[in-house]
Amino acid sequence: MEEIHGTVIIGGGICGLATALALRRKGLSSLVLEKSETLRSDGVAIGVHANGWRALEQLGLATELRETANTITEYHNVWPKQNKTTLKPTRKELRCLKRKDLVEALAKNLPVGTIHFGCHIANFFEDSDCHCTVLSTVDGSRIKARVLIGCDGANSMVAQYLGLGSPSHLPRLVLLGFTSYLHGHPFGTRFLRFASDDFAIGRMPVNENLVHFFMTRPSPSTGFTNESTAREYVLEKLEECPDEIAEMVRRRDAETKTVTKVWYRPPWQVMLGRFQRGTVTVAGDAMHVMAPFFGQGGSTALEDAIVLARSLSRSAPDGVVVDGSTSDRELDEKIRVALRKYIRERRPRLFLLSLESFAFGTLLTAKSLLKKLVCVVMLALLGNESRRHADYDCGRL
Ligand SMILES: Cc1cc2nc3c(=O)[nH]c(=O)nc-3n(C[C@H](O)[C@H](O)[C@H](O)COP(=O)(O)OP(=O)(O)OC[C@H]3O[C@@H](n4cnc5c(N)ncnc54)[C@H](O)[C@@H]3O)c2cc1C
Repeated sequence: MEEIHGTVIIGGGICGLATALALRRKGLSSLVLEKSETLRSDGVAIGVHANGWRALEQLGLATELRETANTITEYHNVWPKQNKTTLKPTRKELRCLKRKDLVEALAKNLPVGTIHFGCHIANFFEDSDCHCTVLSTVDGSRIKARVLIGCDGANSMVAQYLGLGSPSHLPRLVLLGFTSYLHGHPFGTRFLRFASDDFAIGRMPVNENLVHFFMTRPSPSTGFTNESTAREYVLEKLEECPDEIAEMVRRRDAETKTVTKVWYRPPWQVMLGRFQRGTVTVAGDAMHVMAPFFGQGGSTALEDAIVLARSLSRSAPDGVVVDGSTSDRELDEKIRVALRKYIRERRPRLFLLSLESFAFGTLLTAKSLLKKLVCVVMLALLGNESRRHADYDCGRL
C-alpha cells in the first residue's frame, strides 16, 4: 500500500501530538505514525511551567487541563547533610499534570484517523523525483510525505538521518510514581526537593488527593538485569529519608516507572547540529533531549509544536499537499523556508536551556574539582536563567 500525505509526523508522544494539533488549529492536516499499538501515556507525571501553559493556551487545552491539577505555590528545598532548608514562592505558574491527562487531551482534539497506531517506521529516504520522502514501515507499507517531522524521541532515527549524532546519557536511575490519598494529603501546594549526597527525592502534589514523587540515585557500573532490581536499588535509600517522605513512597500506587538512563543532547550539538535537511526536520526530544533537572523537556516540546506550525502555516497557508495551484519546486522552497525560520527561532532558546542543564548535570556528577568549578562559573554567568526559561513565551500560533 502506498499513501501520499502532506505533513507526516513520526512519533505520537507529547511533541508529535502537539504538533499535529497545532497544525490542525491552523487548518493544516497531518498524519501521526506511532509504533505503539495504543496511546502512550507512561512516564507518570510532568511538571508544566508557565512557558508550557502558554503553549497549551495556544493549543486550546489550558483551561481543561488546569482543572486537573492544582497550582504549586512554593519550592521547599532540603539539604539534610548541610542542615539547610529554603522556602521560596514559585512566582510563575507551575502545575504537575498526569501525563495521561495531557496525552489524552492532545489526542482527543485530533480528527479521527490522524494517528496511525502500530505503525513502526523502519527507514525512509528523500526521493527528488516525487519531491517527497518515502517512508517504509516494518510490515512493508510505504507512505510518501511532502514534509517529514521527526518527533520520535531521544533516540530518533530522523535525528540520525540529519547527522545530529547520538545523545549522551547520565548513569542515573529514576523511579517515578504516584501516591493516592483518599481523604486528602497533608502536603499542601509545595514542591519538595530533598537532596542528599548520593540521592534525591522530589514530591509534587497533582491535586488534593494525589501526589507525584520521583527518587533518583546514580547507577552502579554493573547496571541492572531487570526493572525490579533497579527499583529496589533506588528504594534502598528510603532508609535515609525522614519518615514522612519514606511513608509516602512506601504506600505508592501499584504503577511505577523506572528510568535507567537519563538522555541528553550536549549543548554543542544543539548549537551546531543540523536540524533540517530538505523538507525533513525534528522537534521535541529528537531535537533537544535534556536531563530533567529543570522539568522543561515536555514544555519545550510544546513550544516547538507552536513555532513549527506557525512557520509552516505562514509559508504554506493552503497546506502542503500539491493541489495543482503551486508547482512542486515552488512548494518545496516554501517548506524549506518555513523550516529554516522554525530552526532559527528555536535554536538560541534551546541552546541556552541545554547549556544550563548540561552544566547543572556535570556539576552533580563530575569527580574533578576543576570541572565542577567550570560548571559553577558557567551557571553563575548564565544568571537566573532557569527562572527565565520557565517564563518564556513562544508567541501566538
Ligand atoms: C525522568 C524524567 C522526568 C521528566 N520530567 C519532566 C517534567 O517534569 N517536565 C517536563 O516538561 N519534561 C519532563 N521530562 C521530559 C519529557 O518527558 C520529554 O521531554 C517529553 O516527553 C518528550 O516528548 P517527545 O514527544 O519529544 O518524545 P517521546 O515522548 O519519547 O515520544 C516519541 C514517540 O515516538 C515513537 N517512535 C519512536 N520511534 C518511532 C518509529 N521508528 N516509528 C514510529 N514511532 C516511533 C515512540 O513510540 C514515542 O511514542 C522528563 C523526562 C524524564 C526522563
